[in-house]
Amino acid sequence: MASKVFVITGPSGVGKGTLIKELLKAVPDLELSVSATTREPREGEEDGRDYHFLTAEQFDQRKEEDDFLEFATYSGNRYGTLRSEVERRLAAGHSVVLEIEVQGAQQVRAAELDSVQIFIAPPDPAVLRERLAGRGTDSAEAIARRLEVAEQELAVQGDFDHCVVNDEVERAASELVGIVRSELGQAPAA
Ligand code: ADP
Ligand code: 5GP
Repeated sequence: MASKVFVITGPSGVGKGTLIKELLKAVPDLELSVSATTREPREGEEDGRDYHFLTAEQFDQRKEEDDFLEFATYSGNRYGTLRSEVERRLAAGHSVVLEIEVQGAQQVRAAELDSVQIFIAPPDPAVLRERLAGRGTDSAEAIARRLEVAEQELAVQGDFDHCVVNDEVERAASELVGIVRSELGQAPAA
Protein backbone atom coordinates (compact mmCIF):
# COMPACT_ATOMS: atom_id res chain seq x y z
CA MET A 1 0.00 0.00 0.00
CA ALA A 2 1.30 3.49 -0.86
CA SER A 3 2.78 5.49 2.01
CA LYS A 4 1.40 8.97 2.53
CA VAL A 5 2.36 12.21 4.21
CA PHE A 6 -0.21 13.53 6.69
CA VAL A 7 0.10 17.23 7.44
CA ILE A 8 -1.57 18.11 10.73
CA THR A 9 -1.92 21.76 11.55
CA GLY A 10 -3.98 24.14 13.66
CA PRO A 11 -3.45 26.94 16.17
CA SER A 12 -1.11 26.58 19.11
CA GLY A 13 -2.82 25.02 22.10
CA VAL A 14 -5.62 23.42 20.08
CA GLY A 15 -4.35 19.95 21.01
CA LYS A 16 -2.36 18.80 17.94
CA GLY A 17 0.31 17.11 20.04
CA THR A 18 -2.30 15.43 22.24
CA LEU A 19 -4.27 14.04 19.29
CA ILE A 20 -1.16 12.99 17.36
CA LYS A 21 -0.01 10.95 20.36
CA GLU A 22 -3.29 9.03 20.23
CA LEU A 23 -3.06 8.71 16.44
CA LEU A 24 0.43 7.18 16.58
CA LYS A 25 -0.75 4.65 19.15
CA ALA A 26 -3.75 3.68 17.02
CA VAL A 27 -2.02 3.46 13.61
CA PRO A 28 1.31 1.66 14.11
CA ASP A 29 2.78 2.17 10.61
CA LEU A 30 2.70 5.96 11.01
CA GLU A 31 5.80 7.87 12.10
CA LEU A 32 6.16 11.47 13.26
CA SER A 33 8.78 13.61 11.49
CA VAL A 34 11.06 15.42 13.95
CA SER A 35 11.25 19.08 12.92
CA ALA A 36 14.12 21.52 13.26
CA THR A 37 13.62 24.73 15.23
CA THR A 38 15.55 27.71 16.54
CA ARG A 39 13.31 28.06 19.61
CA GLU A 40 14.66 27.22 23.04
CA PRO A 41 13.82 23.74 24.33
CA ARG A 42 11.00 23.63 26.87
CA GLU A 43 11.52 21.78 30.10
CA GLY A 44 11.53 18.06 29.40
CA GLU A 45 12.09 18.42 25.64
CA GLU A 46 14.97 16.40 24.18
CA ASP A 47 17.09 17.23 21.16
CA GLY A 48 16.46 14.71 18.38
CA ARG A 49 13.27 13.41 19.97
CA ASP A 50 11.02 16.48 20.25
CA TYR A 51 12.90 18.70 17.81
CA HIS A 52 16.32 19.11 16.29
CA PHE A 53 17.25 22.27 18.19
CA LEU A 54 19.43 24.43 15.93
CA THR A 55 21.05 27.83 16.24
CA ALA A 56 19.96 30.47 13.72
CA GLU A 57 23.29 29.92 11.91
CA GLN A 58 22.80 26.17 11.73
CA PHE A 59 19.25 26.66 10.48
CA ASP A 60 20.46 29.04 7.73
CA GLN A 61 23.15 26.61 6.71
CA ARG A 62 20.61 23.77 6.33
CA LYS A 63 18.40 26.15 4.37
CA GLU A 64 21.24 27.03 2.01
CA GLU A 65 21.90 23.34 1.48
CA ASP A 66 18.24 22.96 0.45
CA ASP A 67 17.69 20.47 3.28
CA PHE A 68 14.17 21.67 4.11
CA LEU A 69 10.98 20.41 2.52
CA GLU A 70 9.32 23.48 4.04
CA PHE A 71 10.16 26.10 6.64
CA ALA A 72 8.51 29.11 8.24
CA THR A 73 8.96 31.75 10.89
CA TYR A 74 6.41 31.38 13.67
CA SER A 75 6.15 33.66 16.66
CA GLY A 76 9.74 34.88 16.31
CA ASN A 77 11.39 31.49 15.77
CA ARG A 78 12.12 29.37 12.73
CA TYR A 79 10.75 25.89 12.19
CA GLY A 80 11.32 23.49 9.31
CA THR A 81 10.83 19.93 8.09
CA LEU A 82 14.05 18.25 7.00
CA ARG A 83 13.64 16.35 3.73
CA SER A 84 15.73 13.53 5.20
CA GLU A 85 13.21 13.03 8.06
CA VAL A 86 10.42 12.42 5.58
CA GLU A 87 12.33 10.61 2.84
CA ARG A 88 13.90 7.94 5.01
CA ARG A 89 10.55 7.08 6.59
CA LEU A 90 8.74 6.88 3.26
CA ALA A 91 11.60 4.76 1.86
CA ALA A 92 11.17 2.37 4.80
CA GLY A 93 7.49 2.00 3.89
CA HIS A 94 6.06 4.17 6.69
CA SER A 95 3.54 6.93 6.32
CA VAL A 96 4.67 10.17 7.90
CA VAL A 97 2.97 12.76 10.08
CA LEU A 98 4.11 16.39 9.93
CA GLU A 99 2.93 18.59 12.79
CA ILE A 100 3.50 22.03 11.30
CA GLU A 101 1.94 25.49 11.13
CA VAL A 102 -0.14 26.76 8.20
CA GLN A 103 2.56 28.46 6.06
CA GLY A 104 4.51 25.20 6.04
CA ALA A 105 1.34 23.24 5.22
CA GLN A 106 0.84 25.50 2.20
CA GLN A 107 4.41 24.83 1.03
CA VAL A 108 3.91 21.06 1.33
CA ARG A 109 0.69 21.39 -0.67
CA ALA A 110 2.63 23.19 -3.41
CA ALA A 111 5.39 20.52 -3.44
CA GLU A 112 5.18 17.43 -5.62
CA LEU A 113 4.19 15.20 -2.75
CA ASP A 114 1.04 13.22 -2.11
CA SER A 115 -0.10 14.80 1.17
CA VAL A 116 -3.31 14.72 3.15
CA GLN A 117 -3.96 18.01 4.91
CA ILE A 118 -5.81 18.00 8.22
CA PHE A 119 -6.71 21.09 10.26
CA ILE A 120 -7.40 20.75 14.00
CA ALA A 121 -9.84 23.45 15.13
CA PRO A 122 -10.99 24.50 18.60
CA PRO A 123 -14.70 24.18 19.50
CA ASP A 124 -14.47 27.88 20.38
CA PRO A 125 -11.40 30.17 19.91
CA ALA A 126 -11.59 31.06 23.63
CA VAL A 127 -10.41 27.57 24.64
CA LEU A 128 -6.99 28.24 23.08
CA ARG A 129 -6.09 30.70 25.80
CA GLU A 130 -7.30 28.30 28.51
CA ARG A 131 -5.43 25.34 27.03
CA LEU A 132 -2.18 27.27 26.53
CA ALA A 133 -2.37 28.62 30.08
CA GLY A 134 -3.26 25.14 31.38
CA ARG A 135 -0.30 23.56 29.57
CA GLY A 136 1.98 25.83 31.55
CA THR A 137 4.86 25.85 29.04
CA ASP A 138 4.63 29.39 27.67
CA SER A 139 5.00 32.83 29.22
CA ALA A 140 2.04 35.24 29.16
CA GLU A 141 3.82 37.14 26.40
CA ALA A 142 4.40 34.02 24.31
CA ILE A 143 0.75 33.01 24.77
CA ALA A 144 -0.40 36.45 23.57
CA ARG A 145 1.77 36.14 20.45
CA ARG A 146 0.49 32.65 19.72
CA LEU A 147 -3.14 33.81 20.08
CA GLU A 148 -2.54 36.60 17.57
CA VAL A 149 -1.21 34.10 15.03
CA ALA A 150 -4.15 31.80 15.80
CA GLU A 151 -6.63 34.29 14.36
CA GLN A 152 -4.89 34.19 10.97
CA GLU A 153 -4.61 30.41 11.13
CA LEU A 154 -8.30 29.90 11.86
CA ALA A 155 -9.15 32.04 8.84
CA VAL A 156 -7.57 29.54 6.40
CA GLN A 157 -8.97 26.29 7.77
CA GLY A 158 -11.21 25.99 4.67
CA ASP A 159 -8.09 25.27 2.54
CA PHE A 160 -7.61 21.89 4.21
CA ASP A 161 -8.86 18.46 3.07
CA HIS A 162 -10.26 17.66 6.52
CA CYS A 163 -11.10 19.59 9.67
CA VAL A 164 -11.38 17.94 13.09
CA VAL A 165 -12.83 19.92 15.98
CA ASN A 166 -10.94 19.04 19.16
CA ASP A 167 -13.85 19.35 21.56
CA GLU A 168 -13.08 16.23 23.52
CA VAL A 169 -9.84 14.27 23.21
CA GLU A 170 -11.31 10.78 22.88
CA ARG A 171 -13.92 11.77 20.30
CA ALA A 172 -11.59 13.98 18.25
CA ALA A 173 -8.78 11.38 18.31
CA SER A 174 -11.17 8.74 17.08
CA GLU A 175 -12.32 11.01 14.21
CA LEU A 176 -8.68 11.72 13.30
CA VAL A 177 -7.81 8.01 13.38
CA GLY A 178 -10.82 7.31 11.14
CA ILE A 179 -9.67 9.89 8.57
CA VAL A 180 -6.10 8.53 8.50
CA ARG A 181 -7.17 4.88 8.28
CA SER A 182 -9.57 5.72 5.49
CA GLU A 183 -6.89 7.65 3.55
CA LEU A 184 -4.57 4.65 3.97
CA GLY A 185 -7.29 2.30 2.74
CA GLN A 186 -7.44 0.52 6.09
CA ALA A 187 -10.63 -0.79 7.64
CA PRO A 188 -11.95 1.23 10.62
CA ALA A 189 -11.01 -0.16 14.03
CA ALA A 190 -13.49 -2.64 15.50
P1 ADP B 1 -0.72 21.93 20.51
O1 ADP B 1 0.19 20.76 20.23
O2 ADP B 1 -1.76 22.11 19.45
O3 ADP B 1 -0.03 23.21 20.82
P2 ADP B 1 -1.29 20.45 23.00
O4 ADP B 1 -1.55 19.06 22.49
O5 ADP B 1 0.00 20.72 23.66
O6 ADP B 1 -1.56 21.55 21.83
O7 ADP B 1 -2.50 20.83 23.98
C1 ADP B 1 -2.55 22.05 24.69
C2 ADP B 1 -3.15 21.80 26.08
O8 ADP B 1 -4.55 21.50 25.94
C3 ADP B 1 -2.53 20.61 26.80
O9 ADP B 1 -2.38 20.92 28.17
C4 ADP B 1 -3.53 19.48 26.58
O10 ADP B 1 -3.52 18.55 27.64
C5 ADP B 1 -4.86 20.25 26.54
N1 ADP B 1 -5.89 19.63 25.66
C6 ADP B 1 -5.70 19.01 24.47
N2 ADP B 1 -6.89 18.61 23.96
C7 ADP B 1 -7.85 18.98 24.85
C8 ADP B 1 -9.29 18.84 24.88
N3 ADP B 1 -9.96 18.24 23.90
N4 ADP B 1 -9.94 19.35 25.95
C9 ADP B 1 -9.26 19.98 26.95
N5 ADP B 1 -7.90 20.13 26.98
C10 ADP B 1 -7.21 19.64 25.94
P1 5GP C 1 5.87 24.86 19.33
O1 5GP C 1 6.81 25.98 19.60
O2 5GP C 1 4.57 25.01 20.12
O3 5GP C 1 6.49 23.48 19.46
O4 5GP C 1 5.42 24.98 17.79
C1 5GP C 1 4.94 26.20 17.31
C2 5GP C 1 4.29 25.99 15.95
O5 5GP C 1 5.29 25.57 15.01
C3 5GP C 1 3.20 24.90 15.94
O6 5GP C 1 2.11 25.37 15.17
C4 5GP C 1 3.88 23.73 15.27
O7 5GP C 1 2.96 22.92 14.58
C5 5GP C 1 4.77 24.47 14.28
N1 5GP C 1 5.88 23.65 13.77
C6 5GP C 1 6.58 22.68 14.40
N2 5GP C 1 7.48 22.14 13.59
C7 5GP C 1 7.33 22.76 12.38
C8 5GP C 1 7.98 22.62 11.11
O8 5GP C 1 8.86 21.79 10.88
N3 5GP C 1 7.58 23.46 10.13
C9 5GP C 1 6.61 24.38 10.31
N4 5GP C 1 6.27 25.13 9.26
N5 5GP C 1 5.97 24.55 11.48
C10 5GP C 1 6.33 23.74 12.51
